[in-house]
Order: sequence, then C-alpha cells, then structure tokens
Amino acid sequence: MTGGHEATAHVHAALRREASLARLLLDAARLLGETLEPQRVYERFREILADAVRYDGLIVSSYEPSDHSIRCDYAWADGQTLDASTFPPLQLNTEGGMQSQVIRTGRPFLTNDVAGHVAGPGVYYDTDGSGKLRKVPDEGPTDAQAALMIPVKHEGVVVGVVQLMTDHGAYTGDDLDLVEGLVGQMAAAVRNARLHEERARAEAREAAAQAVAAEREEAVRVLAAVGDAVVFVAEDGTIRYRNPAAAELGADDLDWQAIGARIGAPAGTRATLPVDVNGRELWLSFVAVRTTDGVVYAFRDVTQDRELDSAKSDFIATVSHELRTPMTSVLGAAMTLLRDDIDLAPEQRQELLEMIARQAQRLAHVTEEVLLANSLDRGEIHVERAEVDVDRVVRDAVQIQLPGAELQLRAATATADRDRLQQVLLNLLENATKYGGQHVLVTSEDRGDMVRIAVTDDGPGLAPGEQQRVFEKFFRADPQMVHSPPGTGLGLYICKELVERMGGRIGVDSHPGRGATFWFELPR
Ligand code: ADP
Repeated sequence: MTGGHEATAHVHAALRREASLARLLLDAARLLGETLEPQRVYERFREILADAVRYDGLIVSSYEPSDHSIRCDYAWADGQTLDASTFPPLQLNTEGGMQSQVIRTGRPFLTNDVAGHVAGPGVYYDTDGSGKLRKVPDEGPTDAQAALMIPVKHEGVVVGVVQLMTDHGAYTGDDLDLVEGLVGQMAAAVRNARLHEERARAEAREAAAQAVAAEREEAVRVLAAVGDAVVFVAEDGTIRYRNPAAAELGADDLDWQAIGARIGAPAGTRATLPVDVNGRELWLSFVAVRTTDGVVYAFRDVTQDRELDSAKSDFIATVSHELRTPMTSVLGAAMTLLRDDIDLAPEQRQELLEMIARQAQRLAHVTEEVLLANSLDRGEIHVERAEVDVDRVVRDAVQIQLPGAELQLRAATATADRDRLQQVLLNLLENATKYGGQHVLVTSEDRGDMVRIAVTDDGPGLAPGEQQRVFEKFFRADPQMVHSPPGTGLGLYICKELVERMGGRIGVDSHPGRGATFWFELPR
C-alpha cells in the first residue's frame, strides 16, 4: 500500500501546488490590476515573480509587427531597474535568436544552456546592475546560464517577449507554466494601463482644445463688442477676421496691402491716414500689430474729430476776426473823440458815437452767439412749449430785420417757444440779407401736423456739398473770409439746435446761382 500512499502524497502535493499557483495568479491579477501606470505594472510583475521563481535578469520587450522592430520596455538586472530607453531597438532575426524565435513561433522557450545558444546567429546583449550593455559573446561571455522566454500575445498575435535569466541553476517546465500564467496577467494589466493613459491623454487633448475654443470664442465676443474696428490681415493681404465695427467701416473693400505699406510695418505702429472708403474720404486712425502670420489692425474713424479740429481753428480765425474788426472801429472812434487838439463838428461827433454803438452791438452779437452755442452744447438751454401765433411772430421778425421782404403767411398756431422762434427767424432773415440777393420772400403754411416757414432769397445759393454742412458748428462756406460778410458760422447751427429742441426740423433747398430757401417745420 506504500505505492498507494506515495501516489496519494503525490496527488496531494500536486493539488497543493495547483492551489498555490491559483492563489499566486489570483493575487497577481489583483495586484497588477491595481495600478494604471505601465512602469508600475512591470515593477509589480517583477516583485510577484520573485516569490515564484529565481532570476537575475528580467527583460520585457515589445514587438512591432509593422516594421519588425523589438524594443525594450522594462529591464532589470542584478537587483537594479535599468533605463529601458538605453537599449537599442533590434530588428527581428529571421533565422536565429532566442527572442526572435519566440516571436516567430509564438511559443515559449526554455534553455538551460544560454552560452551554447548565444554562440549561434543573432545579436545578444548582456547587462548587469551597472546598466552597461555588453554585446555577447564579442565583448565577453554571458553570465546567464538558464533563460525563460515567454511570448506576450494580444488577440493571438505576438506583441512582445518576456525574458527571464538566471546565472545559477536551471529552469523547469513548471517554472515555465507559472511564468507564462503571470505574463498573461501582466500583459493584460499593461494593456489596461496603456488604454487608460491613452484615454487620459485624449481627455487632456479634448480639454485643451475646449479651453482654446472657449478662449477664442471669448476673444471673438470681446472683439464683436468693442467699438474699435479690428481686422486680421494675412501676409497676402486677405482678411482672415474682422469684427462688425470693421465691416461697418468698409474693411472688406479696403486695399490692406496698400494700407500696410503706408503705415510701415514695425509692431505697434500708429498712423492716421486719409482712406478712400467706397468713394468717401475718411480719416482712419490705425494701430498695427504684427503677428507671426499677418498683421492685426485696430482702427477707428476720426474724420469727425479732424473736421471738428479744422472747424475749431476756422472758428478761432473767424471769431478773432469778428471781434477785431468792430473793436478796431470802436477804438479808433473813441480815440478820435478823446483828442482835444482837434475840434469836431457836432455831426461828426454824432457819427462817431453812432459807429461806436453799432460796432459794440456787433461785438455783443458775436459774444452772444458763442455763449449760446456753448449753452446749447451743454444742454443748458430751456425751450418752452406753448401755443404760438406763428404768422404774428414772422411779421414782427420781418419788421425788425428786413421790412422790405415779401410775405405770404397762411399758418395756424404752432407749439413752440415764442422767443426762440423769433431768434431763428431773425437769423434766417439776417442771412438772406447778408448772403442773398435783392428779393426775399417769407412764407408760412400748414403741412399735415406741422407748420412750415420758409425764407427764400435770390442770392448765389449753396453748392450741394455745402447744403448739409451749413448747419454744422463753425461752418462757413468761405472760411478764409475773402468774399463773405462777417459771421461766426454759428447762426445756422444755433437755428438747427433750437428748432430740433422745439420738436421740429430744418433744411435748405438750393440750386447754386438761383437762390436758397431755408425752411423749418414746427409741430402744430
Ligand atoms: P454766419 O452767417 O455767421 O457765417 P451761419 O451759420 O448763419 O453763420 O451760416 C453759415 C454759412 O452758410 C455762411 O457762412 C454762408 O456761407 C452760408 N449761408 C447761410 N445763409 C445763406 C444764404 N441765404 N445763401 C447762401 N449761403 C448762405
């Protein structure tokens, strides 16, 4: 029965071994599955191996079937993890080589005579804990005696090899079975870790892309909201981006290469240039910023600022002229009156005094106009809204300013400010006298819910380009005052402001050379 006992003991031993193998594999699966970093998986794999089999060297390589290259992913020798990237990649050996044979056949390989094998065809490296590679056998004999080589497979295809080497003793078939089982676990864990890394990278890429998109969207929103026009012009002069303000300023029709040349390129350059925008000359103020593949221009329309500037200098010229002329007369007349070395006849004295009064009035008028225009600008002028007998106000104004004018009055009452209405009329009548010809006609009539009053003269009239501009502040058709009678360029501006504040509108119709009709309407 001894044999029976022996058999039972044998079975027991086998069962125990099976059980501990199963336990080892189970533990390995759990431990390897815990980490999501390939390098850590390899480390754990090596630690688990250490409990199961003896080894002095361990190499995990991957095989790339598309170019038959073999790369080292993990290397450990004589108690040290080595830098796998220092191992040169190998080409699959089509005839010999232990590793290549495993890849070619897909079957594991066990040898207890390494020295005998490396003497054959193939490239062999030996390493020790120093991390230094030695080509075997050219650079000395290998220390390894026995080796286990297990293919790593994915869906039936060899994607790598695990090599285990020991300097002492031999490997058995049981060792091979055990290591094969662990390699399967390790390969699954590495694959899982790689997938995880890839997903994490994809997520990071996605997040980065989203951040860039959000930033770009934000920039576009900001650019759409800013008042300044912004365009991004590529090297070839084409517009890559423009905001709504730029579109409004006609950016699409501008010759950006020409503009770039006029501004001159260095980054941060500023320039204000007259630019033809759809047949209209605009003064645009540019800031140009060079980027790697083009130029960003921020620009705005400063035409009005420039017009205002030139109007202001016109105004200063006009007002100083308007003040100096009467002042000179007043001064001259007063000096003459004060002289005691000449006797003045009473009529002469009277004449000089009248001149002083007249010129002083003119001075007061200019000052008043300037002050009133200023008050209008500041919104300090209050306008009454009362029922006004329009025809009566017209008759009174004509009586004061231009008794010779012809009247055709057929208006009802309007809602207006009596004094302001008179002021407007006096101004239009004064202009008709100053700039008009011989004959002036004043009409009034009802037009729907408005009352329309018009002053028509037979003077030289206004060129079409001037008809809108005469209502601008300081505008004078002849700013150099070569031919025009005195004036500040404020009269019609004041008229327009007053009429609009009374809820009406003002305009002019004129054919140059055939007089002008200045008209305004007030609500009834
Ligand atoms: P001012 O008379 O003080 O110059 P206004 O604002 O009243 O200022 O007039 C502005 C300009 O409009 C004048 O300088 C003149 O060139 C032009 N203008 C005004 N009225 C007439 C008119 N009836 N006919 C022709 N031009 C006129």
